[in-house]
Amino acid sequence: MSDENDNQRIRKPLGLKRSVDAGEVKQTFSHGRTNKVVVEVKRRRVLGKPGAEPAAPPSAAAPAPTPAPAPAAAAPRPAPAAPAPRPERAGPPGETPQERVRRLQREAEEERLRLAEEARKREEEERRRAEEEERRRAEERRAEDEARVAPAAAAPEPTAEPAEEPAVEDAAEAPAASAAAPARAETLPAARRFTPVERPEPKRPASEAKGKKKEDKRAAPIDGDKDKRRSGKLTVTRALNEDEGRRARSLAALKRAREKERRMHGGGAAKPREKQVRDVVVPEAITVQELANRMAEKGADLVKALFNMGMMVTVNQTIDQDTAELLVTEFGHNIVRVSDSDVDIDTSEDTDPEETKRPRPPVVTIMGHVDHGKTSLLDALRGTDVAKGEAGGITQHIGAYQITTKGGQKITFLDTPGHAAFTEMRMRGANVTDIVVLVVAGDDGLMPQTIEAIRHTKAAGAPMIVAITKSDKPEFNPQKVRERLLEHEVIVEALSGDVQDVEVSAKTGAGLDQLIEAILLQAELLELKARPDRPAEATVIEAKLDKGRGPVATVLVTRGTLKRGDNFVVGTQSGRVRAIVDDKGRQLSEAGPSMPVEVLGLGGVPAAGDILTVVESEQRAREVAKYRQEKATEKRTALAPTSFDTMFSKLASNVKEYPVVVKADVHGSVEAIVGALHALSNDEIKVRVLNAGVGAITESDVTLAAASKAPIIGFNVRPNAKARDLIKRDGVRMMYYDVIYHLTDAVAKEMAGELGPERIETVVGRAEVKQVFPAGKRDKAAGLLVLEGAIRKGLFARLTRADVIVSSTKIASLRRFKDDVEEVRAGLECGVVLEDTNDIKPGDMLEVFSVEERERTL
Ligand code: GDP
Repeated sequence: MSDENDNQRIRKPLGLKRSVDAGEVKQTFSHGRTNKVVVEVKRRRVLGKPGAEPAAPPSAAAPAPTPAPAPAAAAPRPAPAAPAPRPERAGPPGETPQERVRRLQREAEEERLRLAEEARKREEEERRRAEEEERRRAEERRAEDEARVAPAAAAPEPTAEPAEEPAVEDAAEAPAASAAAPARAETLPAARRFTPVERPEPKRPASEAKGKKKEDKRAAPIDGDKDKRRSGKLTVTRALNEDEGRRARSLAALKRAREKERRMHGGGAAKPREKQVRDVVVPEAITVQELANRMAEKGADLVKALFNMGMMVTVNQTIDQDTAELLVTEFGHNIVRVSDSDVDIDTSEDTDPEETKRPRPPVVTIMGHVDHGKTSLLDALRGTDVAKGEAGGITQHIGAYQITTKGGQKITFLDTPGHAAFTEMRMRGANVTDIVVLVVAGDDGLMPQTIEAIRHTKAAGAPMIVAITKSDKPEFNPQKVRERLLEHEVIVEALSGDVQDVEVSAKTGAGLDQLIEAILLQAELLELKARPDRPAEATVIEAKLDKGRGPVATVLVTRGTLKRGDNFVVGTQSGRVRAIVDDKGRQLSEAGPSMPVEVLGLGGVPAAGDILTVVESEQRAREVAKYRQEKATEKRTALAPTSFDTMFSKLASNVKEYPVVVKADVHGSVEAIVGALHALSNDEIKVRVLNAGVGAITESDVTLAAASKAPIIGFNVRPNAKARDLIKRDGVRMMYYDVIYHLTDAVAKEMAGELGPERIETVVGRAEVKQVFPAGKRDKAAGLLVLEGAIRKGLFARLTRADVIVSSTKIASLRRFKDDVEEVRAGLECGVVLEDTNDIKPGDMLEVFSVEERERTL
């Protein structure tokens, strides 16, 4: 308030000056300088204009501040206007008005100075007393409060440096000050009340707005006109600015004060925030970023800290638990170590209470030698016929079906690949299998793969039922089969053993009911049960990347019920069940125990044998999948088994590497091949799989192989057209196989240095299958258009469908029109019969090649 008054007072004379200015009054105010003045004229104007003016002169004591700045501030002219009229009005004696004015002014000035001086002294005195009093009280208080920790600490501070808010302190703390206040009030304007407190602090920064302003005012009377003038001069232009500045500053000061206060009060809270200690959960391996997130620190800070520890890592890199611990402690947090089992899901020990379990259908795997009728039997059992669609009559992929018997019971069949090379997959198949049906063709007897199947069944501990098929055939001789089985310790019931045996014919359907009965009987003995009302768990039978549907997995629900929308983790993949499709292509909303279904909605293609586990949330699924991926990466990137033995042997013997690129038709094969190849590694030479994948051999496979001078192993797959060109150009060695044994044999021999003669394939010609027609009793013939080179009788041939080998065979017969010919050249049509296969379809490609065996030169 007083500020504002001051401003007004300052401003008014300025305004006056300008209007009144017009001449003479100058002299009066220039202290001694004379000038001609016609006062009367001016006076009237002056009086008339500012109504406030008359009020000003009477306050003789006050004038000091008012007129003082005015004259100094303005050019000599304006200022005189105000004082000039005053003396005239008062003037009694015989002085000239000018003299009187000067005298009065002088007197006023003297009086003012005197008063100011007195006031100053008094203030000084009071201040000193107040300070002393204050100090004494503070001391007393400090002594008193020494014991009381917190409040005591805060109290002395303000007293020690009362700069911040003098007014408050004044009122609140110092009785002396408040006592002084009334005294001052008597003689001085209110504004001065604050001076005692403010002045005493010379330390106080000049920028403190309030104090400065008051100091200015105080200084004026003491230091005299010179100062006044100077300050007055400033006020014209700066008064406003200063005023604004003052306001701005006081705002800023206010803010600062508030800030400081806040810090003082809230300081207790702010500091601990920095120190907030977290319990950081750290698994065995964690990425730097993830650790940063869990610590609520910046990833970059962690990287920096690691760098300081001498580790060059990026935020995306994985660090181990020990390193993580260093970081966590470095940042002042607590580490909570968790082991794999805390992150990963292992349900093997989580068993369901017996009372929650319900009977479930048996899962049956059909095994047997190739062409002994597995597919046909399954088809017969399903009452459908899909055998026609099978490649070369060989079941290439694991399929799974469920049938409902006449009695309403359900039986699930897993259709394992008949090929002996799919050892690993079969073994996996046997793991979920309750009962094995061993198919033995009654006209053929026990074959190598039959014996292998017996071995695996025994290893898996699964009960077996022997189905002696093709009972409709005249050569059918079940007795011989039974006897031969004895050699392998399979004693059938007919020979007083405990293995059920059934004679069946897929063709006539004879014995099928008995087989089903046998299966159900066996299942009953096994008392198969599973809890249906729980989150599902399932085993992947086969998985593939479907062009239209994305990754698709055929799974067998082992317990619980799989529902659409369920979040799950399967192997290293996570997903959410988008659709459930049964073996008949129907969409289901859920699938219970022993139900084989196709699941859509996977994040990637899992491997056969992976366990699908439904989890409570997408986040959990992702977490587990990510964890498993990291583990898998670690495993893959590990150069060698991390035992010291192998490490030293590696150092000592300078291990050679045998790099390969593997491509196969299905995931299971890739896995089996990679597994088999790794098993070939020894201390001297190691197989290094550069890449292993499903599908046709592509350009990238070829470039990869070429760069490492590695051969490409194609298992049941062929290169696509572009890759073919590259193979030729880069001279990449191709190794095509359709039997894993052959593949591993060849690789093992190469690795061992026992290199047999090199088998060199030269492609002689390519042809496209235009049509297929029957030839003779059983066989089929293909109508071909020769596209490249020539087709020759007796040559090796491969039939491919979309770059996947359907069969490897030989040209059994070659005809042009009705004549047998030796060779048919490009551009011509011909008919061929392929050895051992009838699986031919229009659109298939036939590649014929000669094989030359040459001694190897390395
Ligand atoms: P897989 O390789 O074991 O699946 O055998 P398949 O089911 O493909 O059968 C091989 C061949 O045997 C096919 O030509 C079938 O037609 C034939 N076959 C299968 N079961 C029977 C049967 O019960 N009776 C007769 N006569 N032929 C059969």
